[in-house]
Amino acid sequence: MRPESLMMSFGYKPELSEGAIKSPIFQTSTFVFKSAEEGKAFFEVAYGHRKKNEGEELGLIYSRINNPDLEILENRLTLWDEAEECAVFESGMSAITTVLLEFLKPGDLLLTSTPLYGGSDHFIKKILPKFGIDYVSFKVGQTKEEIIEIVNQSGKADKLALIFIETPANPTNDLVDIRGSKEIANYFAKDGKQIYLAVDNTYMGPVWQHPLKHNADLVLYSATKYIGGHSDVIAGACLGSKELITRVKGLRTFLGNMAGPWTGLLLRRSLESLKVRMDTQAMNAEKVAAFLNSNQHVEKVYYLGNLTEKDGAQFEIRNRQCNTNGGMISFDIKGCEKEAFAFLNSLKLIKLAVSLGSTESLAEHPATMTHVDVDPEHRKLLSITEKMIRLSIGVEYYNDIIDDINQAIEIAVLS
Ligand SMILES: *Cc1c(COP(=O)(O)O)cnc(C)c1O
Repeated sequence: MRPESLMMSFGYKPELSEGAIKSPIFQTSTFVFKSAEEGKAFFEVAYGHRKKNEGEELGLIYSRINNPDLEILENRLTLWDEAEECAVFESGMSAITTVLLEFLKPGDLLLTSTPLYGGSDHFIKKILPKFGIDYVSFKVGQTKEEIIEIVNQSGKADKLALIFIETPANPTNDLVDIRGSKEIANYFAKDGKQIYLAVDNTYMGPVWQHPLKHNADLVLYSATKYIGGHSDVIAGACLGSKELITRVKGLRTFLGNMAGPWTGLLLRRSLESLKVRMDTQAMNAEKVAAFLNSNQHVEKVYYLGNLTEKDGAQFEIRNRQCNTNGGMISFDIKGCEKEAFAFLNSLKLIKLAVSLGSTESLAEHPATMTHVDVDPEHRKLLSITEKMIRLSIGVEYYNDIIDDINQAIEIAVLS
C-alpha cells in the first residue's frame, strides 16, 4: 500500500490503548518496568551493550530515549522516503545540528552547497569553527570537476567527512544534483573511509523528492514546513539507514533535543492529510506560475515548472529528482524594493510572513528578510535582488490566490 493509505494507522495497535482509534498522548516522563529483569534487558539494548534479539523491540524506559508518540510518528515518516529508520527532533535546526555534530569532528572538512537555509549557514560558519571544523562551499550549477577542484584547493581534501546540500535552493529553485554529490563523496572516500551525503529536503517535503533513492545517506526535514503544514508546530526529522540513525539517536539522547509527545500528536495528525495538501499546493502553484509568467509587470519567474531543455543540466536534474514542480515560486516584480514592498503591503489573502509549506499562502522579501544575512555580493550572484518576492503556495482556491496577487501587483506598479 502507498504511504497515504497507511498514515492513519501504521505503527499503532489500538488494543494496547483501550481500543482508542487514535493513539493517545503519552504525557509521561518515565515508564514502569514489569520486573527488574525487564528493566535490565531494556537498558542493555538502549545503551548498545548487546544486540536486540530476533523480534525484540527497544522497551520503553524514559521519554528522552523513546516515547510511543514519537515512535509511531517516526515509523510513519519512514514510509515516504522508504527509509529504514527515522529520528524526530524538536526543530529542523536541532535535526541538522545533531547530524553535523555526529558526523564531524575537530580537524574535519565539511562540503556544502550554497545558498543554505540561514540557520544552517550560521551554524556552519559561526559555530562549527569553534570546534575546529572547517567548511568549503560550491554554488548551484558548478560541475562535479569544479567542485572536486574546490575541495582539493582547500588543502584538506583528505579530511572531507560530510557533504551537506539543500535542493532546490531557497529562494531561486536552483537544483543541486544529489546523485552527483554522492559521486563526489565517493571520489574522496579512500581506504574504506565513509563520506556521507546529507540532504535538507525541506523545500520539497517527503512527497515530492526522495533523496535516499538518489544515493543520499541522510535526509533532513524541518517538519515545521510541509510535514507539519499548519504553521502551528516547530519540529524536525532525520531519516536514513538503521546504522546511521542509531548514531543520530544516540547523540539526540544526550543533547536531549527530541520532540515532545504533543509534537508527536500534531505531526501524526498532519501526516494524515500530507498527500492531499501537497497535491493541492503543487496544482495551485502551477496555476499561479502560469499567471505570473504571462503578467506584464513580472520580469522573471523562478519556478521548477519553467525549466526546459534549453536549461540543460538543471532540466535533466529536475526530471530525474523531482516528482512535481513543488509549491514554492519566486518572482521579480518590475521595479525595485519600493514596488516589491508595495506589493507585499497590498496583499489581502496571502499573509506577509517567512516560513513555507503551510496550508495558507505566504509571501516574503528574501533580500531584506530570509536572506538578509547573505553577503551582498553573493546575494547579487544568486539573483536575490530588491525586486524579488518569494511565495509559498497554500491550499486556498487558486483563483483567489491569483486575484490577490493580481490586485497587489496593480497597486504596486501604480504606486
Ligand atoms: C525552516 C527551515 C529549516 C529550519 O527548521 P526549523 O524547524 O525552523 O528549525 C531548515 N532548513 C530549511 C530549508 C528550512 O526551510
